[in-house]
Amino acid sequence: MEIYQGLAASPGIAIGEVFIYNQKLHIPNFSISDYQVEFEIDRFYNALRKTKEEYLKLQQKLIEEMSEDQGKILEAHILMTEDKALIQEVVDKLRAEKKNLESIIFNVVDTLSKKFLQMEDEYFRDRAIDIIDFGKKIIQILLSQKNISLSDINKNVIIISTDLSVSDTASMNKTHVLGFVSELGGKTSHSAIIARSLGIPAILGIKDITHQSSIGYLCIIDGYSGTFILNPDNETIEKYRVLKQKYEEKESEFLLLRELPSITLDNKKILLKANIEIPEQEIESVQKYGAEGVGLYRSEFLYLSKKRKVLPTEEQQFSAYKFILEKFPNDIVTIRTLDLGGDKVLEDLYSKEPNPNLGWRAIRFCLANPEIFKTQLRALYRSSVYGNLQIMLPMISNIDEIEKTKTLIKEVISELQNDKLPYKENIPLGIMIETPAAALLSDELGKIVDFFSIGSNDLIQYVLACDRGNEKIAYLYEPLHPAILKLIKLTIDNAHKNNIKVSICGEMGADVLNALVLIGLGIDEISLSPIKLLEIKKMIRNINYSEIKKIAEQTLGMSNQKSVIELISNWTNNNLKKE
Ligand code: PEP
Ligand code: MG
Repeated sequence: MEIYQGLAASPGIAIGEVFIYNQKLHIPNFSISDYQVEFEIDRFYNALRKTKEEYLKLQQKLIEEMSEDQGKILEAHILMTEDKALIQEVVDKLRAEKKNLESIIFNVVDTLSKKFLQMEDEYFRDRAIDIIDFGKKIIQILLSQKNISLSDINKNVIIISTDLSVSDTASMNKTHVLGFVSELGGKTSHSAIIARSLGIPAILGIKDITHQSSIGYLCIIDGYSGTFILNPDNETIEKYRVLKQKYEEKESEFLLLRELPSITLDNKKILLKANIEIPEQEIESVQKYGAEGVGLYRSEFLYLSKKRKVLPTEEQQFSAYKFILEKFPNDIVTIRTLDLGGDKVLEDLYSKEPNPNLGWRAIRFCLANPEIFKTQLRALYRSSVYGNLQIMLPMISNIDEIEKTKTLIKEVISELQNDKLPYKENIPLGIMIETPAAALLSDELGKIVDFFSIGSNDLIQYVLACDRGNEKIAYLYEPLHPAILKLIKLTIDNAHKNNIKVSICGEMGADVLNALVLIGLGIDEISLSPIKLLEIKKMIRNINYSEIKKIAEQTLGMSNQKSVIELISNWTNNNLKKE
């Protein structure tokens, strides 16, 4: 049994089989115990059988499409899958060295191919290439590294990978992916955000984990603490089964709060809304936890699906927006315009940028591509008649960006009038406050928009110069840093001065301690992953706003995050009921 610690990115416990997902071929290298030797020998025979089948299929194809002679090229490869000496050598080494199968095969093949390469005879030297090819093929089969898409997974597994792109995560088959672990990524990376939205436990930032295991091994993810256990013993499996049940019971208790208002003891209402990315997959949990509308729909996920080869059309977008608006006939749905860029890239549209987070992102990309932007705005305006829509612009860093958008909206409205298509008048237009510039300029911006939503995920990365997706500097990424609190307070005060509402839709609002400070600073709404909603509601129902306001004011006078965290933790421990 091996225990690893990573960043707890999405809560939940999962027990299941490892599935290594990686584009690059890697050779795991780890020691195994006595009882695992027979398991590895079985895997070896199965993989030999599959390798032979694949070579035979390939041979057939060569014969059909080329010639009998071309098919013969694979004779040597096929013979290798039955080569008694080679097979025996692998089995002997597995027993003697007690290392995982892939590393043994790699070593046997490596030694053998080097021997052949040193031979005088050219025929034998050529065989070295066949041996290397055979080694690669069987290892690929062992690691299931064909072009598998995560949406094709058809049995329950726990994904282990170096990194998961946003589109990988978005196209995951939720029914079969029990959880995922990756070497890279921070808590507010978009993969982590989607995992939370889909309710899939996830741990990020475990160095070299893809080389420590193989497909089919048992493992446990504890997404609450960030603990990952490979090859757990029976006692540990039992312990986690009990823990999982305990968390499920706790969730049932939380569900009792669903119908109750999110209101403080002294009657201050804090609206709790949902963040969503993939409405069809998430709508159930949004409704289950009783969100009062949608505070952030990350519309870029419509564009990021791996299956989609072209950008979504106006019609496709229109149906997607209509779908979500109709689900909330009595509540507001805030749809954010395209925030592509950063870690959410469409390879066809983007060439690699040296600093993607500071690059051609979100509103910058949209204004540079008015046709793409206008298609989205048209779809949004057309869908507006089906509910209570608000439109939100991401990554605003100056007034021009808002004004240019307003001009495009005017064009869209006149086109819709010409086309005699219905739309709602005066759809509220708001902005994300997620660049330091927007926070500092919030008084001026507040005069020309209808609402603010603080994007703390980006605001923190830009204010603290700390990449939100980099696990190496995750320790610097601190929402309660006084610089962040001062900018948030400034934003909230300027919003209220201009009579507009301010929400937070970054992950900061989904943490009890952080949310407490935000409420004290005067935030009106919190939009968050639905799974965290009732935990926050419980806290809200147990506090007095007047008291929290004073605590939050104290934090503004502090010069380091440690003192802020200490103050808030002590207050919470003394005043909020423990589970
Ligand atoms: C944010 O930056 O806080 C935010 C909500 O937007 P995203 O996470 O999609 O960048
Ligand atoms: Mg953002």
